[in-house]
Amino acid sequence: MPVPTSDQPAFMHCPFCTAHDTKVIDSRLVAEGDQVRRRRECLACGERFTTFETAELVMPRLIKQDGSRQPFDEDKLRAGMQRALEKRPVSVERLEEAIVHIKHKLRATGEREIKSRVLGELVMAELQKLDEVAYIRFASVYRRFQDLNEFREEIERLSREPSKA
Ligand SMILES: [Zn+2]
Repeated sequence: MPVPTSDQPAFMHCPFCTAHDTKVIDSRLVAEGDQVRRRRECLACGERFTTFETAELVMPRLIKQDGSRQPFDEDKLRAGMQRALEKRPVSVERLEEAIVHIKHKLRATGEREIKSRVLGELVMAELQKLDEVAYIRFASVYRRFQDLNEFREEIERLSREPSKA
């Protein structure tokens, strides 16, 4: 079981026996994606209960490649995307929409922690929709330490595809 961290709200305890060890049985987004409704089961007494967690609480932590954990940092995400979009014809509004999409997808995983690679893939998917040059810029930096062959294949695939008008 993951060790409960200080940012876990108190209602995560079982309301029947106050045990800490509860298992998530089902997660779904409610309130237009701003809340996650979770069905939990107490591992101590077996009772089931429902929690509602707000967006801030459910944004998963990122597991880096070295195994360390980091909180999700929206400013850092925005800065990285802005760097890729520098001098590209993409409005601030479209960038902000893309960030909203990414955050929704992260929350929708229902996970406490996700591999940072998952976030990288989400960013790349959004950048690809916004601007191909920005996508290539981001992907080249992001994948520097990842699978270089995969990246080369991607470049080849893109160069074979007719460019979007
Ligand atoms: Zn219990």
